[in-house]
Amino acid sequence: MSCNEIFLTDRPEDQAEFRRMILKTVEAITASITDGKAYRGMLPQDLRAFLRLDSILPEHGLGFDALLRCVSENVLPNMLRPFSPDYMPHLHSASLMESIAAELIIAVFNQSMDSWDQSPAATEIEVETIRHLVKLYGFSEEGNGIFTSGGTQSNLMGLLLARDHFCLSQFGLDLRNDGLPVDSRKMRIYCSEIAHFSIENSAHLLGLGSRSVVKVPVDSAQKMDVTALRSLIEQDMAMGKLPFCVVATEGTTDFGSIDPLLPIRNICDQYGLWLHTDAAYGSALIMTERYAERIKGIEQSDSVTIDFHKMFFLPISCSTLLVKKGIAFEPLEFHADYLNRKEDEEDGYINLVDKSIQTTRRFDAFKVWTSFQIRGRDGWNQLVSQCIERAKYLAEQLDADPNFELAVKPEISAVVFRVLPIQENDSIAPDTLNKNIHRQLLHYHGIVIGQTLFRGQVYLKCTLLNPLLTKTHIDSLLELLRQLRYNIAL
Ligand SMILES: *Cc1c(COP(=O)(O)O)cnc(C)c1O
Repeated sequence: MSCNEIFLTDRPEDQAEFRRMILKTVEAITASITDGKAYRGMLPQDLRAFLRLDSILPEHGLGFDALLRCVSENVLPNMLRPFSPDYMPHLHSASLMESIAAELIIAVFNQSMDSWDQSPAATEIEVETIRHLVKLYGFSEEGNGIFTSGGTQSNLMGLLLARDHFCLSQFGLDLRNDGLPVDSRKMRIYCSEIAHFSIENSAHLLGLGSRSVVKVPVDSAQKMDVTALRSLIEQDMAMGKLPFCVVATEGTTDFGSIDPLLPIRNICDQYGLWLHTDAAYGSALIMTERYAERIKGIEQSDSVTIDFHKMFFLPISCSTLLVKKGIAFEPLEFHADYLNRKEDEEDGYINLVDKSIQTTRRFDAFKVWTSFQIRGRDGWNQLVSQCIERAKYLAEQLDADPNFELAVKPEISAVVFRVLPIQENDSIAPDTLNKNIHRQLLHYHGIVIGQTLFRGQVYLKCTLLNPLLTKTHIDSLLELLRQLRYNIAL
């Protein structure tokens, strides 16, 4: 490679080389996908040894073509294929085809979302995308939002805004400058016992400690028990604690269960608490005709986490924090003379760094802006509804078959169940059987499903985020599970 070919520029030589590299890469990718399986790669120890190199910085560069050959031979065959219908362990989806094209544009122009002079059209498109999302989720024009690196960051930001809002109204403290109040150890956040771990992690990062997070029990449908929530808040208040925020999960990570928003909102109103809704998973229901009502009340949240890299099938990363009132972002505003001068704002330049905890930031909004327009309401309704309907079918089959035990009826698309040992053989514990089936599926059948604990016991999990998954697929998976149950037990 000559050293002239460094960047894509207006030079015809650079453009030709760019086109060649991209086309060769596309060919290598498509050639590597030789069957429909989710994983065809090696076991962990073998893979580690196989990928070990003496150096990744040779004395003289290998050049693009040699490296691409190495990637084609060693890396791509060991890649997991989230687009396979046999892949269903986590809230991890494939990338919609058009969003891969969008990623190419994002990478080529490499806009940085912190200031307008690093991302003119991109800033305007993010602002515009947020404006439409605010409307889509039912907020008024006072609403606002920002793209983040994922649900973890969106949750952190929601709790940060809640904390700062509370300390300002309760103690007249501007946390940005003053730091935490002396009473910060009394502050309390409530979430269900199966809420995402990023809530506790955020409490740590926010200086409140994970003990500030009170775990509210769930009912048999794995939804937050609202009566328990009320009594925990009242108990804490009687003991002089300072409740300030409730986190409702719309779509828990394991079960997809949906906490009841309207009763939780009532409790928040009664005690003056911020309602943060973690809809990292369930936010996609808004795209469906039939299931959007399951997340009714989301528009009454003070802040909402939406993950577009889960049930919206967009490439990692792509997430948003929406807030009911844009003014809530005020504590994040710092002005740097070299980046986001106050005078810029006055002259009509928007510097999105003012609402973010990141500085350099990706133009992820572009993937939402493009995919929403490309597929439209009907296209999106179909994609998301399909996953929900397939999960219902899978759950019904499991429930009707005495070989299996369904944990909870799915509300979105996560189905948790376990395989029961055959009756003639009680020497194999259900936990061992299910762990064993999980590994066998991965390494001998190229099928990747999830494994979790339910009431202290090992369960399997299928998180259906693939509209290509058919009933036939589901039927053959069930048949395989029945066989494995028999073989392993023998
Ligand atoms: C996945 C998930 C998160 C974390 O989001 P990331 O994008 O992985 O950071 C938070 N909450 C819930 C309910 C989730 O399912």
